[in-house]
Amino acid sequence: MIRHIKTAKASIEQGGTDSAVTRAVEGLLAQIRDGGDKAVRALSVQFDKFDRESYRLTKQEIEACINALTAREREDLDFAQDQIRRFAEAQKAALKDIEIETLPGVVLGHKNVPIQNVGCYVPGGKYPLLASAHMTVLTARVAGCERVITCAPPFQGKIADKIVAAQALAGADEIYCLGGVQAIAAMAYGTETIAPVDMLAGPGNAYVAEAKRLLFGRVGIDLFAGPTETLIIADDSVDGELVATDLLGQAEHGINSPAVLITNSEKLARDTLSEIERLLDILPTAAVAGKAWEDFGEIILCDTIEEMLTEGDRVASEHVQVMTRDPDYFLDNMKNYGALFLGARTNVAFGDKVIGTNHTLPTNKAARYTGGLWVGKFLKTCTYQKILTDEASAMIGAYGSRLCLMEGFAGHAEQANIRVRRYGGRNVGY
Ligand code: NAD
Repeated sequence: MIRHIKTAKASIEQGGTDSAVTRAVEGLLAQIRDGGDKAVRALSVQFDKFDRESYRLTKQEIEACINALTAREREDLDFAQDQIRRFAEAQKAALKDIEIETLPGVVLGHKNVPIQNVGCYVPGGKYPLLASAHMTVLTARVAGCERVITCAPPFQGKIADKIVAAQALAGADEIYCLGGVQAIAAMAYGTETIAPVDMLAGPGNAYVAEAKRLLFGRVGIDLFAGPTETLIIADDSVDGELVATDLLGQAEHGINSPAVLITNSEKLARDTLSEIERLLDILPTAAVAGKAWEDFGEIILCDTIEEMLTEGDRVASEHVQVMTRDPDYFLDNMKNYGALFLGARTNVAFGDKVIGTNHTLPTNKAARYTGGLWVGKFLKTCTYQKILTDEASAMIGAYGSRLCLMEGFAGHAEQANIRVRRYGGRNVGY
């Protein structure tokens, strides 16, 4: 039986977005589509108190951001990017083009073709999320995209120099100091400064995620990657301090970031509650994390591991941290999650920043139908076909002609008929 030890006060509609956000974003998109650079600049002043002639960073400015890193920071950044590159390269290597002869003389295949122009968003309103530069720009580079451009908002009114360094080291071709809907729309529609892209990638707040959703169709998008959420599945093999630390460590992302614990231990549930109270007294980001926990925090008590699995799949969280005696049970059986963090030794912060898996992950139950960002999202799997012999063309043509007529397509049928006559020297038998 399932019981709530703590329920969430608020809820986010599944797959939906706040209609006020949708209306606001629709208005901003129209302004940028019609107004180009002038509108982009005005919105940058309005939302980010940032104004300069061109929001494109020069080569000298980019170099200055890299040179401003301390030796320690540079080594740490390089280490993180090496891990992300290594895993992305392994994923790319696993993606094979295929070609098979399905019938004598009939050859079918597919190729993984990199998307040419990609725009990567690196969030930076509340925190300068430089890790998103590795996750998006670097991954697109490994995929083989020709032009990879990137936008990040100014941080506290200034160019976010560490984000810029990370974007450059990840291999960006163009770097813009631009945030929110302005950035997303400028990359999708194009402006006098930015040539438009074919696909947008990267996480962001509710405005960014909604802008990407509304622009889908005009451009491709990686996935719906909005405000962060976390789920911990734990038994009494871990203690309340560890669980509370990991819940609040993700709730600090924003006041709308859900943090949920599913457990079969009532003691762990109660200990976690009291540890959260204690940590909120000392955590520097307690104002945000505490509000997120109050409104969206949940503790669900289950009787069995199987119930924990069913509940976990129902929550379909972006991050799922499993700290049970047998975490591999969840690896083997769980269906809905953005990324799994298995065992107490690892945690979501490792995945967010350094370990090598991508941190751009599905939110708001999108984990029911997609995984996170990876090289494959920057590739189009395109099919091709060829016929090597006259006999194969006439044989497929005869089937094709009859099947076209079953649908009433006379023109289609004639495309087949002409080949039966030319390559088979006969008419189609009906
Ligand atoms: P952000 O860069 O996403 O957004 C900042 C921009 O929002 C600003 O530049 C501004 O233009 C715009 N904005 C702010 N208020 C606005 C308003 N009222 N109307 C229109 N535009 C407005 O940075 P952030 O706000 O710090 O959010 C980052 C988000 O990214 C967090 O919610 C975090 O949880 C999420 N995130 C998600 C993932 C994922 O994979 N799902 C990964 C990392 C971060």
